[in-house]
Amino acid sequence: MGLYAGIDLGGTQLKYGLINEEEQVVFHHSTKTPNSIPELMELIQQLIQNLRNQNSQPLVSVGFGFPGIYAHREQRILQSPNYPSIENFDLVPALSAFIDIPFFIDNDANMAAYGEYKMGAAKDAHSLVLLTIGSGVGTGIIIEGRLWQGACGFAGELGHATVNPDGEKCNCGSLGCLETEVSGPKIVKNFQGLTRSRQTLTSKEIFLKAQAGDKAALEAFSQAGRFLGIGIAIAINVLNPEKVILGGGVMKAGDILLHSALQEARKRSYKYAFECCTIQRARLGNRAGFMGAACWAKDKLIPQV
Ligand SMILES: [Zn+2]
Repeated sequence: MGLYAGIDLGGTQLKYGLINEEEQVVFHHSTKTPNSIPELMELIQQLIQNLRNQNSQPLVSVGFGFPGIYAHREQRILQSPNYPSIENFDLVPALSAFIDIPFFIDNDANMAAYGEYKMGAAKDAHSLVLLTIGSGVGTGIIIEGRLWQGACGFAGELGHATVNPDGEKCNCGSLGCLETEVSGPKIVKNFQGLTRSRQTLTSKEIFLKAQAGDKAALEAFSQAGRFLGIGIAIAINVLNPEKVILGGGVMKAGDILLHSALQEARKRSYKYAFECCTIQRARLGNRAGFMGAACWAKDKLIPQV
């Protein structure tokens, strides 16, 4: 009997927790993300030590979800717009210096998808695509019960599928990525364009206006929703997934965004694949990452998973 830790590093918060052999969360907590890598390593060392001291059961393994593009071969994050200081940092030797049990690293969105698959909205689904829509779009893919990582670990970047060829420049270097067209900042821009104002409202304020029936605010969300629908249709047509799970802060807009997204996804999907797919909201919120990482740490110990 033992415990498995999951650690999910975000741009502002580091979330962590423990699961037991029955895959129940027995502890979770969050703390501010440190600014520098030495501070981050010190924090991880300290919290692993605390997790060990506070529990009589042994800690068996640790799973990490780090933000950015994680290269399996190099065992490094190559690019991380949300936490640039981690780019090209030699993670494995640094963590090995103080972690004497097995540990496993992957991308944070992949870990969130694994969490929803193991414990959340897609529990026991055969296949799923998770889209986490916030300031960016994170995606993870599970196929036949396995996390689809791709040849080098870079799979699942649906956020960088082009949904608008004439769209705006993305951090990745491309134009009109799903990420640039549906994220919170784009909803703000849509609203400014529609109202011809430079008023700087947050996407939440625009949501409140939309809720109150403001036409421009509703249309700002609809525009984003249509692009989200195109992204969902790409996932449905390529993978024929059992589920598409939608999470992240922007999804709090609910039907205001979903209505146009579903309409567009239906229009652009191969009809049989669309009918076969359940599109639903994520269930674990911002805990999905650490929960997935903890399950990942547990399952990776079993051969062939
Ligand atoms: Zn992009």
